[in-house]
Amino acid sequence: MTADPANPEHPERAAVAALADDFLTRLREWIAIPSIGADPAHHGDVAGSAHWLADALRADGWPEVAVWDEGPALPAVHACWPSADPAAPTVLVYAHHDVQPVDPLEQWEHPPFEGVVVGEELFGRGASDDKGQVAMHLLAVQAHLRATGATAPAVTLKLFVEGEEESGSPHLGELLDRHADDLACDLVVFTDTPMYSRDAPTVNTGQRGVLGAEVFFTGGTSDVHSGRAGGGVPNPATAIARLVAALHDADGRVLLPGFYADVVEPTPLERADYAALPFDEAEWLSANAGGARAGTGEAGWSTLERVWVRPTAEVNGIQGGYTGPGLKTIVPASASVKLSFRLVPDQQPAKVMAALREFVAANTPEGVEAEVVVRGDGVPAYAADVTHPATLAVHEAMSASFDQPVRYSRTGGSGPAGVLHDRLGVPVVYFGATLPDDRIHAPNERVVLPVLLRGAEAAARLWRLLPERLS
Ligand SMILES: [Zn+2]
Repeated sequence: MTADPANPEHPERAAVAALADDFLTRLREWIAIPSIGADPAHHGDVAGSAHWLADALRADGWPEVAVWDEGPALPAVHACWPSADPAAPTVLVYAHHDVQPVDPLEQWEHPPFEGVVVGEELFGRGASDDKGQVAMHLLAVQAHLRATGATAPAVTLKLFVEGEEESGSPHLGELLDRHADDLACDLVVFTDTPMYSRDAPTVNTGQRGVLGAEVFFTGGTSDVHSGRAGGGVPNPATAIARLVAALHDADGRVLLPGFYADVVEPTPLERADYAALPFDEAEWLSANAGGARAGTGEAGWSTLERVWVRPTAEVNGIQGGYTGPGLKTIVPASASVKLSFRLVPDQQPAKVMAALREFVAANTPEGVEAEVVVRGDGVPAYAADVTHPATLAVHEAMSASFDQPVRYSRTGGSGPAGVLHDRLGVPVVYFGATLPDDRIHAPNERVVLPVLLRGAEAAARLWRLLPERLS
């Protein structure tokens, strides 16, 4: 290895520092392309963003670069840089280059597509989610080569940057199948999640899955007079309320049959790490939980555990009968509830859906007809194995780069890591260096540059460490 004499312990850090100015110029240029996937008027920009990335990769020396724009998926970018060692492992980095819409525009303090730098922060849509993290990987590969003095990476690197993540990755499975050879790998590095905080850097190890459904209860064919028929016929709104009330027991556990049968609990090490993270519940409630007045949930688990590693059933909306001004004395003909479930490994969305149907059937009173409408196939949960050598290597690379104790964390939201794992048949580890308060999907999205640069340093280390750690 070519060690920088000024920084012999941290060749990757020195390399990142030398490349940091170019990195920032480049990221600002990319942020200026408004690749908003949700808006058809911006689909040309999504394509422009893909081609910008492809050009940047070619300029960096990536020997194989392609834009996949054959449809129906919005353009994705694929690149490969083979290691000089044919026995080296192949690592696929997954990320995305599409961004969320910017409304309400008037709440932005800086134009969302200019990449304005204020102190340590770079503002702009995509600065954190996820262009900043993709650019971090480009920088990391440059730094890896500079630090090692090699002309090819120590692992065979593949990059897969999709253009539809913010739209729920509707064609991801199709892309993975169609390009199975291009994407074949030994390990996926999933880069679309944050660390816990700047003061408490973490390796994320999991995301929950999600499943949505709607339940409709119908009594008669029309609303009826509550005096003439009330008391003599079933009330679908009451029935929906009873169904919702039956979803949880007094300890906050979900009562769908078999709901917990496949749940894998976090390891004692993970629980100890969660407990050791700085967590101020009052601050969390006001900053992250919409000003909720108390943290509540399933008995026996901390707030972080409840939102990271425990499955849930939530009522998203409920309706039925008369909701206009004043009173209307009726027995409504119908009522409905929208439900979503956050899932954890190894719960399968299809199995949970079957359990919901069983639960609804058991809680439908006589004289009421039930219909369960499923919203899509759901997204499976995924958790990286904290004993896997790749996870340990990520932890080691992060620890060396952040100069602080690095712990494990998870996120409560959902993403396609489980789909990548299932289709590619390889382990997935998470690698991210953004922060939960980057205001992604919201006005004034930003990324903290020194944190992102440490992330690049960590990724550069990871590529150096992996061949040995995986051997
Ligand atoms: Zn993202």
